[in-house]
Amino acid sequence: MMSLNRCKFLRRVLGVGGGQSVEREITIVTESTLKEMRNGDLVAANGVAGGVRDAYGEDSATEDQLVTPWTVSVASGYTLLRDPRHNKGLAFSERERDAHYLRGLLPPIVVSQELQERKVMHNLRNYTVPLQRYVAMMDLQERNERLFYKLLIDNVEELLPVVYTPTVGEACQKYGSIFRRPQGLYISLNEKGKILEVLKNWPEKNIQVIVVTDGERILGLGDLGCHGMGIPVGKLALYTALGGVRPSACLPITIDVGTNNEKLLNDDFYIGLRQRRATGEEYSELLEEFMSAVKQNYGEKILVQFEDFANHNAFELLSKYRTRHLVFNDDIQGTASVVLSGLVAALRLVGGTLADHKFLFLGAGEAGTGIAELIALEISNKTKSPLEETRKKIWLVDSKGLIVSSRKESLQHFKKPFAHVHEPVNSLLEAVKAIKPTVLIGTSGVGKTFTKEVVETMASLNEKPLILALSNPTSQSECTAEEAYTWTEGRAIFASGSPFDPVEYDGKVFVPGQANNAYIFPGFGLGLIMSGTIRVHDDLLLAASEALADQVSEEDYEKGLIYPPFSNIRKISAHIAANVAAKAYDLGLASRLPRPENLVQFAESCMYSPVYRTYR
Ligand code: NAD
Repeated sequence: MMSLNRCKFLRRVLGVGGGQSVEREITIVTESTLKEMRNGDLVAANGVAGGVRDAYGEDSATEDQLVTPWTVSVASGYTLLRDPRHNKGLAFSERERDAHYLRGLLPPIVVSQELQERKVMHNLRNYTVPLQRYVAMMDLQERNERLFYKLLIDNVEELLPVVYTPTVGEACQKYGSIFRRPQGLYISLNEKGKILEVLKNWPEKNIQVIVVTDGERILGLGDLGCHGMGIPVGKLALYTALGGVRPSACLPITIDVGTNNEKLLNDDFYIGLRQRRATGEEYSELLEEFMSAVKQNYGEKILVQFEDFANHNAFELLSKYRTRHLVFNDDIQGTASVVLSGLVAALRLVGGTLADHKFLFLGAGEAGTGIAELIALEISNKTKSPLEETRKKIWLVDSKGLIVSSRKESLQHFKKPFAHVHEPVNSLLEAVKAIKPTVLIGTSGVGKTFTKEVVETMASLNEKPLILALSNPTSQSECTAEEAYTWTEGRAIFASGSPFDPVEYDGKVFVPGQANNAYIFPGFGLGLIMSGTIRVHDDLLLAASEALADQVSEEDYEKGLIYPPFSNIRKISAHIAANVAAKAYDLGLASRLPRPENLVQFAESCMYSPVYRTYR
């Protein structure tokens, strides 16, 4: 390998914007020397203020090799204002303006980050169209990253629906029109055989989390192809804001294998491949190359979160890669963990243990069967009974009726474990009457399916029926919060996938909980990263659920809540991270040694802060 001291450096004088001319050094290095140069001495060398260097590796051993022309630079002057990671806008101090060639590039006023935050929030609130807010937030992220995260952290309840659901759904639908600059990597079939090179094109090298989608099942909106990029971008913004993972360690990726969405294929503004989806071997080969390249480039501890894949691929990818890579599927595992947490917390209100309850699901896809499996595992762990037994407490209804053993042959593999012996039942209402569940969970994506009759039957069977209407968006919710409370005469414990406002019934105010995946995945990911965990074990999901349930206070329970308020999310994430890391250490999956004594404190100390730093 060629070493840094064998490189020959070329010095240049570059003109800098605004008529200013400053001596700069530029170093172009080969990939093999980049590692040695990354330590920072490169940019600080020679006392050149804001110096940038370039060196050409002229070692004869590398002459016939392909090299990547990496440049490592210190931004100053106009470039600094255009660098979102370091830009502070009007918050640059007088001293920083002198030291970094900013004089005259900014109006004379110096303001605080707090004032900037107030101003941007004021502007955002003036937009009446949600998509305008989304675009404004994305612009801010591109302009001033720390201010973006400060806003998001300080106003999480208000801005979560802007950068994530529901607005991100509309953003994905119109992604071609609002596309300005790439916010992540696009890996299409055209890059087959070159994925490792593509990964090296990303400017950040120390990546810890990748969120990847192939865009086939974006939220409840179906196949949005390459426009699905809004999802990894949004989820990673939450990784930073809610879980404290550094933004530079996050990499959003969209895998483009085409789309079967005719509307997009005929849309002039569509940004993806104009072909129908590749499937079968072509698809698996691309994914295999991707997973290998990721591990080769970033090592064993890179976390890959699969997001919004269609359910056939989602289950297959998870089972294929979970033993070889650090992978996590939020739609299956994250959903399961957040819902299990709600159920565990709800036991305080409805009584008994999980094993005392009977669960009926409407919808047996990624969410439904993922939740069902995790409930069965939790009961199995707690009661020391075999999984085959604990699964018998859980029943699922799909579009063809109750899943029963006589249907086993024709069922998809992930439904089979729940095909129990029972005569066929065609409708949800009949299933409620036959199974007599204590908990009813909706994960079919079909709205208004918890009818008055269904909910009233639940209320006639249970003193406190536990009803979770998880389908999104709001229009697809199985029932509304108001319906759940009214039809059960205020006895239901209710939570939903989409948020509902508090409901007043019979003089009492009920606050419905939201089973939002954003409670779990940022803290869960932080726990994996900070402990150097190399595989996701199901017990880590249980640890996350328990930590979240522990954060529900007496005051929350009094309002009927089974999830803690979102405003405490960073504290919640630190607890989840600590519990997940503790379990990973216990299982021997954590590689960061020695094990920190106080994991909550350690999690908090690892978290990214968006407060501006002072520049030399
Ligand atoms: P999916 O496509 O994998 O599964 C949907 C399932 O519902 C399939 O088994 C399908 O057969 C079944 N189904 C469809 N129509 C039905 C009908 N009329 N009656 C009964 N079953 C029917 O989708 P998914 O990823 O499991 O998501 C399902 C829903 O759950 C979506 O609306 C999604 O937004 C929601 N969800 C909520 C959360 C959350 O609240 N945190 C998390 C994930 C998913």
